[in-house]
Amino acid sequence: MDKATLALRQEFPGDWCDELTALGEKLLVEAEQIYGKRDRAWTFLGVQWGEKNVTWPIDKQRKLACICLHKLLPNHMPDFIRFNLAHEVVHMLCPPDRDDVTYLEEGVAVSFSLGRSIYRDPGYLGAQLKIFEESPDDKYTVAWKDVGRLVASEPNVISKLRSPEKSLSCISAAQIIATAPRCDKAVAERLATKFPE
Ligand SMILES: [Zn+2]
Repeated sequence: MDKATLALRQEFPGDWCDELTALGEKLLVEAEQIYGKRDRAWTFLGVQWGEKNVTWPIDKQRKLACICLHKLLPNHMPDFIRFNLAHEVVHMLCPPDRDDVTYLEEGVAVSFSLGRSIYRDPGYLGAQLKIFEESPDDKYTVAWKDVGRLVASEPNVISKLRSPEKSLSCISAAQIIATAPRCDKAVAERLATKFPE
C-alpha cells in the first residue's frame, strides 16, 4: 500500500488488518489479470474487520472503498477468511451498490475464490466445492454454475464484457449474448438478474 493511500486511510479509524490488506492487493492484481483492469476511479483502502463480509464504499463521493470481513469469522479457519477475501476482491474491481449486484458478479466472485491457490489446508478447496455441489439451489451455487456455462461458451468472456463496462453488475443479458453468442439465452437472462439479499 502506497504512502498516499495509507495517509488517506488514517481518516477512517477502524480495525484495519495489514496482513489481509497485503493479500487483498495481491489478489486484486490477479483478478485484473483474469477479468481486466479495475475501475481506477476507486481507491482500495484495505481490509478491516467489521460486522459482515462486504465490499464497502466507505466514502462514495470520493470513491474510497474497503473490504470488510466479519470479525467473528473463526481464527482457527484462516482458509475460510481467505476464501471470503478472494470473493470480496472481485467486488473491488468496481464497487457496486449492494442493491444492484447481479448473479453475474456474484458468480464471478465465487469462481475466483474457488480458483485461487492461497489456501493452507490442501483439502480446503475440495471441501468448499462439495458444499456448493451439495446445495444446487443455493443462490451462490446457481450464480457460480451459470458463470461456468458462460465461460465454457466463450473463453475470456468476462474481460471482454468488462472492456466497455467496468461494473459486472451493469452488464445486460443482451450484452452477454452479443459477446458470447453461443451462451444459452436463459443463462444470460439469469446472470443479468439482481442477486437477492
Ligand atoms: Zn459477493
